[in-house]
Amino acid sequence: MTALDEPQRQQLRTRLAQRQAELLRELGQFQRDRLDIAAQEAGHEVIDQAEVAERREREDVGEAEASRDHDELVAVRAALARMDDGSYGECIDCGVDIGFARLSAQPAAARCLPCQEKAERR
Ligand SMILES: [Zn+2]
Repeated sequence: MTALDEPQRQQLRTRLAQRQAELLRELGQFQRDRLDIAAQEAGHEVIDQAEVAERREREDVGEAEASRDHDELVAVRAALARMDDGSYGECIDCGVDIGFARLSAQPAAARCLPCQEKAERR
């Protein structure tokens, strides 16, 4: 596999920066939702049990989504940091060039496919 050329690198950097902005927006929205729920609960003396259960469920779903978004944000930020230090596009485990096709599908990918599969089995 060949190293990225400059236009490919630029394209991936733009996509990573956009994704980072999107994730930050989603996580910010999630924070606001939580504050809204807390404010609503504080204003209610009596909340019926069904409503409480439904709200908890919604919070759990939000929690799982926020946790996924957060993990992705960490990966996107790490990829942008690798862009800056010049190691972006190389597998963090074995050092081979990951290749544009894989990075294009997954700009935050830190490993080549064989190393990724190994890492997931661990
Ligand atoms: Zn590798």
